Amino acid sequence: MRIGALEAGGTKMVLAVGDEKGKIFDIKSIPTVSPEVTVPLMIEYFNDEKIEALGIGCFGPICPDKSSDKYGYITSTPKLAWRDFNIVKAFKDALKVPVGFDTDVNASCLGEATFGSAKGLKNVIYLTVGTGIGAGILSEGKLLHGNLHPEAGHIMMKRYEGDTYKGKCPYHADCFEGLAAGPALEERCKMSAKEIPADSEAFKAEAYYIAQALVSYILILAPERIILGGGVMHRLELFPLIRENVVKMLNGYINTKELEDIDSYIVPASLNDDQGIIGCLVLGADATL
Ligand code: ZN
Repeated sequence: MRIGALEAGGTKMVLAVGDEKGKIFDIKSIPTVSPEVTVPLMIEYFNDEKIEALGIGCFGPICPDKSSDKYGYITSTPKLAWRDFNIVKAFKDALKVPVGFDTDVNASCLGEATFGSAKGLKNVIYLTVGTGIGAGILSEGKLLHGNLHPEAGHIMMKRYEGDTYKGKCPYHADCFEGLAAGPALEERCKMSAKEIPADSEAFKAEAYYIAQALVSYILILAPERIILGGGVMHRLELFPLIRENVVKMLNGYINTKELEDIDSYIVPASLNDDQGIIGCLVLGADATL
């Protein structure tokens, strides 16, 4: 089957064509401008590629609840041109193919759980730490939505000792995203996440905040594996620090076989940063069932 995949981001749209086995035939990206400018370009691409289904992993907040009359909408996004835009309807009407729809992070979680480092597992958390922080959650084999979808980047944090940075979240200042997303890290250190020395206090604070969030997720959701992706996580030196902090913070309270093998429990994304777009292929394939 020829499946279209759209990873819709706030700054760029990644478009691809592939199949249900996760193979990508073609991939390209265009800047995210406005629905009037950007959507016709995407429709033209997918029309030319003669796709039979489309999967969309979208920046949010979105409404993924099929029983809601807001299903398919991008809802209260700060990107005003896209607010209250029904992205699913736009593609369904133009392409006349089944369309699957979920958050960008749920798509990444699905990609990793279908073809990547969480293959075959039913309880998986995918956390992206980049421009923003968000988590996709697979719980008992289903992507978690609840009353909206998880917004796990905005949980409250206990401060790293000595950290006085005010935080960057426009809603909560020093929530997890406000303290630890790429822009916060860069503002705190006046350098890019790529350049921050691994032995600096800021780097240690970053690992501490990520570990603290993971501990909350572990205690609440009992995942079988946690995958960390996004630009900041390209700094692989963070992984041993995060694992060490998680073990210390849990302090022996959880004694599962997964926690005993922490190096295989908290792992990097494994699909060369294509986990999102591959997850969109799965969303597209699932839409035909
Ligand atoms: Zn926040």
